[in-house]
Amino acid sequence: MGIKVSKLTHVYMAGTPFEVKALDGIDLEIKDGEFVGLIGKTGSGKSTLIQHLNGLLRPTHGTVYVDGIDIFSRGVKLREIRQKVGLLFQYPEHQLFEETVYQDVAFGPRNLGLEEDEVERRVRDALEMVGIDFESVRDRSPFELSGGQMRRVAMAGVLAMRPRILILDEPAAGLDPRGRDEILGRIEDLHRHHGLTVILVSHSMEDIARLVQRIVVMHEGRIVMDGPTREIFLQVSTLTRVGLGVPQVTMLMHKLREMHKDVRLDVLTVEEAKREILSLLRKEGRPGA
Ligand code: ADP
Ligand code: MG
Repeated sequence: MGIKVSKLTHVYMAGTPFEVKALDGIDLEIKDGEFVGLIGKTGSGKSTLIQHLNGLLRPTHGTVYVDGIDIFSRGVKLREIRQKVGLLFQYPEHQLFEETVYQDVAFGPRNLGLEEDEVERRVRDALEMVGIDFESVRDRSPFELSGGQMRRVAMAGVLAMRPRILILDEPAAGLDPRGRDEILGRIEDLHRHHGLTVILVSHSMEDIARLVQRIVVMHEGRIVMDGPTREIFLQVSTLTRVGLGVPQVTMLMHKLREMHKDVRLDVLTVEEAKREILSLLRKEGRPGA
């Protein structure tokens, strides 16, 4: 099943001089098992959209379905929806507040009213999924950890609810390269090996190119592009028009194309570029080519 959004509009501060139409008639469907990147320049509506997907924000108009159920219809418990659809906010470490890592990750499962041994199992599993050793951190204060570890503890708090769908708002923002690689690697692993459906909001076209299969592009509260990663990044001029770029290595291939008509443009990673350039050089070097 998955998530479906139909004619979703969201207006902040309606009826005041500060009224903002943040979403304007969004239609979107995300099926189980997908890994989708959501991109768009600041203010395009990404955070507003994802907060509707687990019922944190209520649509002004339109409908949000999770597994075919209209989540705002009578009788639906948003608590159950939030178990299925986990949302990791931007800078989630700002929301850590308990004295120990254990207590923090256990907060959600405890609220579900689970037995303590089940709570512990979930805390252990969730920390393992984010690559943090349970025994060595369980009794430490989350605030003693590195920035990257703190963020992964916050992610474990979401995973401890055992969501099937995981939505992350800029999970790598503000981390050093190692912290970024660690958290993005874990997210990839959650999709590949644990079967989670993932929606990733990111400013980094490099990260998006490397990780996701499909890209949804937002601009001024609307979806302006939606398609396979390779196809989206071929459309440099449309992306530029909405204030976005393509990965640097894709741009390089566009430049090389001006010199050589055989250069492939649908290149997304440094590894692919290397292969493509080597193969061109080999063709060039062949006598009679
Ligand atoms: P993005 O995540 O793509 O940067 P947002 O969803 O945060 O975009 O914002 C979309 C629009 O809604 C922007 O114009 C922003 O200023 C406005 N906005 C976001 N949150 C609020 C809020 N809580 N109150 C009023 N306006 C908001
Ligand atoms: Mg945002």
